[in-house]
Amino acid sequence: MKSLLIIIDGLGDDKISALGNKSPFDYAHHVNIDNIAANGVRGSLSVCERDFTPESLKCILRLLGVKSDDFPTNRAYLELLAERRDISDQQMVLRCNLVSVDKTGELLSFNGEGLTLKAMQEAAGQLGELSGDIDFVHLSGYRNLLIAAKNTKLLGQVIVKPPHESVGENINDLLSDLKEVSPNLQNFLAKAQANLKNFAKNGEHYELYPWGVSERTTMQSFSQRHGGLKSAVICSAEVVRGIATSLNMECPKLLHATGEIDTDLQEKAVATIKMLKTNDFVMTHFNGTDEAAHRKNYCEKASFITKIDKEFFPVLLKNIEEPTKVFICGDHGTSSLTGKHLARPVPFVAGIIAGSGVIKPIEKYQDIWSFLYERGSK
Ligand SMILES: [Zn+2]
Repeated sequence: MKSLLIIIDGLGDDKISALGNKSPFDYAHHVNIDNIAANGVRGSLSVCERDFTPESLKCILRLLGVKSDDFPTNRAYLELLAERRDISDQQMVLRCNLVSVDKTGELLSFNGEGLTLKAMQEAAGQLGELSGDIDFVHLSGYRNLLIAAKNTKLLGQVIVKPPHESVGENINDLLSDLKEVSPNLQNFLAKAQANLKNFAKNGEHYELYPWGVSERTTMQSFSQRHGGLKSAVICSAEVVRGIATSLNMECPKLLHATGEIDTDLQEKAVATIKMLKTNDFVMTHFNGTDEAAHRKNYCEKASFITKIDKEFFPVLLKNIEEPTKVFICGDHGTSSLTGKHLARPVPFVAGIIAGSGVIKPIEKYQDIWSFLYERGSK
């Protein structure tokens, strides 16, 4: 039987008083998901358990059957792969946020707050021209990468605190160790800061914040891991595309996917059905739920879940002809109250579309592996 994993990123949440003390998932209308559950099983489980802090990279790798020992140290490398770029073993890649800073050096935001998307793109265009021994790669919005020669100190003892955990602190203190061990990066950051001066306003200015260093890693392919299963991933978020590339899973280009709540759900459904025809396993990922929760917008999150149920699932249910196991879940929770990821159990639904069969109890993440990747069952 074919199988389909549908990840609604950051699906779990707190109970929200404005939503009648329900989570956004419980508040949302999802009659199609409920119909799948009615003939299958539903429950909740934690993908990361207590093994690692909840984040999409590791949680999704775990859902795909990758053991924790094989997890890459950081997501920058996977995001680079998603851009169809690569580095050599003598290089490293860092995540690099465009951040806003006040006159005293206090970090005001981790995400270029105050700049429009267009202005961020413009800034990225200018910064790209500074590329030399440090290569600047723009991803989207405030998110960029830097490629530099490998620096063992940065890959070892120096750890830069993530910018989203450092708002209110002084950027010079936060980056002082990084600059000390890497004159190259220090130089580049100084040039970037000078270059970004024209975006300053109201006592705020913009700087680059490199963090999350990673090296080139190679991983065993999805197919090697799962007895030759052919697989594909339908997604737009860079980190998920990077996972697909590193596990050698087919990842067709989507024209209207945004990684946000305005993504084209019809396009995703059609692509999912198409990939299921030629693959044994397909994973479809929705990122907008997590983004909405990071913005602490539980209404956006709930209405995006409703929209997925209303626009994505009917197309699937109507067009899948071959019996297909489906598992719908969140990779982790994201609280719409705090905007932070949660490790606690997230809702899941397991069922069979266009067929029937007995589904064994699903209580922990290993049970998901058995459900989705073990062949031999009808
Ligand atoms: Zn997130």
